[in-house]
Amino acid sequence: MAMIEKVLIANRGEIALRILRACREMGIQTVAVHSTADVDAMHVRLADESVCIGPAAAKDSYLSIPAILSAATISNADAIHPGYGFLSENADFAEMVEEHGFTFIGPSPDHIRLMGDKIAAKAAVIEAGIPVVPGSTGAVRDADHALEIGKEFGFPVIVKATAGGGGRGMKIAETRDDIADAFHFARAEALAAFGNGAVYIEKFLTKPRHIEVQVLADNHGNVVHLGERDCSLQRRHQKLVEEAPSPALNASQRAEIGEIVSKAISKIGYRNVGTIEFLFEEGQFYFIEMNTRLQVEHPVTEAICGIDLVREMLRVASGAPLGFSQADIKFSGHAIECRINAEHPETFLPSPGKVGDYHAPGGLGVRVDSGLYSGYTVPPHYDSMIAKLIVHGTNRNECLMRLRRSLGEFVIDGLHTSIPLHQKLMEATDFINGDYDIHWLGRFVEKSNDSDDE
Ligand code: ADP
Repeated sequence: MAMIEKVLIANRGEIALRILRACREMGIQTVAVHSTADVDAMHVRLADESVCIGPAAAKDSYLSIPAILSAATISNADAIHPGYGFLSENADFAEMVEEHGFTFIGPSPDHIRLMGDKIAAKAAVIEAGIPVVPGSTGAVRDADHALEIGKEFGFPVIVKATAGGGGRGMKIAETRDDIADAFHFARAEALAAFGNGAVYIEKFLTKPRHIEVQVLADNHGNVVHLGERDCSLQRRHQKLVEEAPSPALNASQRAEIGEIVSKAISKIGYRNVGTIEFLFEEGQFYFIEMNTRLQVEHPVTEAICGIDLVREMLRVASGAPLGFSQADIKFSGHAIECRINAEHPETFLPSPGKVGDYHAPGGLGVRVDSGLYSGYTVPPHYDSMIAKLIVHGTNRNECLMRLRRSLGEFVIDGLHTSIPLHQKLMEATDFINGDYDIHWLGRFVEKSNDSDDE
């Protein structure tokens, strides 16, 4: 078994801290890496060691493979945890980590590569028995081919980049008149963002929920699923609130999708953590993609399962077998996460800057994952998410009560944040009733901005 005694955390912000905390509880030494803009970051302060890996621009620091591998070498780390974003789904990085003799805390490079190409991923999961959104098989050649596919499946359709991520390289075509433009737009955006212009087409579902299943697998063929998360509250394809379990699933649907996913993961031979994302409409699940990493919203799963996912990632990466089977996993209560971004709650413009007074909520069932502190300056160079507020309760209503209470306690002076938006959301009837699809939040934001203007 590859003993892990020292982990280099190739990330920043709340997730670097999250990983550090799991390591510390396990008695594992931590190495933080940081750009020059992050010298004063909490993950740097709390780590056992830290290495500056370059200037503020992510491409020269958190995305620089040579800088990170050098930092791992000089600090004598055994393993590298990539977190989410940055290099976490870069198969070449995972491969180089292993070639340099470090343990990559995540899946095999081959699985990352397979799932990073959405066209190939879709083909692989169909083979493994997972239902997918109806659409093109393989890449779309040109605008005429796109039109042909649109006519076959019926409009609206969505053109998507095979290398896509973060909601980029996607364009909806409402009717046949839009398809040529949508094809050219998605291809150009994909080429610019990912250097790969290959696109495919799916039927556009008009009122689905986004439901994803968390899996965990070891190197010995053991696979479990940890239930689902409902991430339908999105604006411009970006998740804002996530919850587990989904208010839209009944027990038999939950058991059914869990079993389908576990079987498929076994068949594919996947290891470590992963998430299979589905759209769910009229009782049917349709695969959209697999994320081969820890996700931002993993704490809601941890809350209802009582399992530390980062600890499991470390155990599995060191070669240990899972310490529990599917039957041992008991789901308890409900959990909801609010992503708190440094941005204006109405315009959504980023709002970096210096934090004045800071006070995080606490109390029963409240978890805050954040690197913020009073006097810290949120740099303008990175993602705007600055905190995650996660509440756990015996049922969904208790979570709502707890969220209203803890959002009210949260003090982050000096910046605009999405807290006021979350507070409005907690009073919205549809949200209270769990009655929302992936398009609901966009409409809610527009409506509440309009009524503020009156
Ligand atoms: P990314 O990797 O960029 O996140 P996904 O394939 O996961 O791309 O899709 C992101 C979001 O886009 C989904 O959560 C959903 O809101 C929307 N979406 C993707 N495919 C479809 C589809 N076929 N119909 C309707 N909405 C879709």
